[in-house]
Amino acid sequence: MKNPLSQSNLSRLCIHTATTKPLPIEEAVKIYSEHGVRAMTVWRDALQGKNVNEVKKLIEQYNIKVVSLCRGGFFPSVSVVKRKQAIDDNIQAIDEAASIGAPMIVLVCGAEPRQSLETSRSQIKAGLEAILPVAEQKKIKLAIEPLHPMYADDRSAINTLKQANDMAEYFDSPWIGVAIDVYHVWWDPDLEDEIKRCGAHGNLFAFHICDWKVPTGHILFDRGLMGEGCIDIPQIRGWVEQTGFDGFHEVEIFSEKYWQSDQVEFIKNIIEAYNKFT
Ligand code: ZN
Repeated sequence: MKNPLSQSNLSRLCIHTATTKPLPIEEAVKIYSEHGVRAMTVWRDALQGKNVNEVKKLIEQYNIKVVSLCRGGFFPSVSVVKRKQAIDDNIQAIDEAASIGAPMIVLVCGAEPRQSLETSRSQIKAGLEAILPVAEQKKIKLAIEPLHPMYADDRSAINTLKQANDMAEYFDSPWIGVAIDVYHVWWDPDLEDEIKRCGAHGNLFAFHICDWKVPTGHILFDRGLMGEGCIDIPQIRGWVEQTGFDGFHEVEIFSEKYWQSDQVEFIKNIIEAYNKFT
C-alpha cells in the first residue's frame, strides 16, 4: 500500500449502515458520533419498521450527514410485471431518500440470467428513463454503481466503469451519475482513464471503499477492511480526487466475520484502517 497515514482527520469519512449491520440505526448514529464519524449512508433495511421522521430527527440531533440511501435498481426481468414493480420500488426509494434527508440513491442496476446482458442493459436504461422525472422533481441524484463482473449473472449488467459512464452520459442529466466502489473496479486496466472521464462529465457522485481479501471466502460477504487485501486504495482515491471530487470516502464492508464481531471495536478498527490505508 502506498501513502500510509495520508489521512489527518475524519471529516470525509462516511460509514454505511450495512457495514455495521447488527446495530439498529439509532445505535449506529450514536456510536458513529461518539467516535467522530460525521456521515453515514443509510441502507433501506435499516429503516424497515421504523418511524423515518424520528430516525431523521435523531440523525440531525447527532449532527450526522446522510450521504446516500442504498439502494435502488434491480430493473431487469423477463417479466413485464416485475419490471413495473421495480420501477415502483425505485420511486418509493426516491421518496424514502427525500424523507431521510439523503440527496442521492445508489443503484445496483440488476441483471437477469435468462436473457442477454445487452437486453438487461436496455431494461436498465428504460427503468432509469421512467424514474428520472421523479428523481428530478424530488431533487434526488441517482448513482449507477458498476459491479464486479462476478455479479453479472443476477446483480448487475453494468460491470465496468466504462459501461456506467456510457449510461450516465446517455442521459446527460445532472441527476444521473456514477458511484465508484473500489471493490468492483480495482482490477480494471482502463480505471484511471474512466475515472478521469467520469469526473470530466460531472458524473462522479460517490466513492466507496473496502478491500479485496486474498483469498476471498465468499463473493458477497467477505469484504475486507482497508489495508487487509490487494486494492491500492490510495492510488484510486488519488485518481478520484484529481477529478475534483470532494465528497465522502464511504466505508462499505459486507462481512459475516465482522458482523459477528463486537461492533464498537469494529468501528474503532474501521477508523484506524481508514487513517492508515486510505
Ligand atoms: Zn458500493
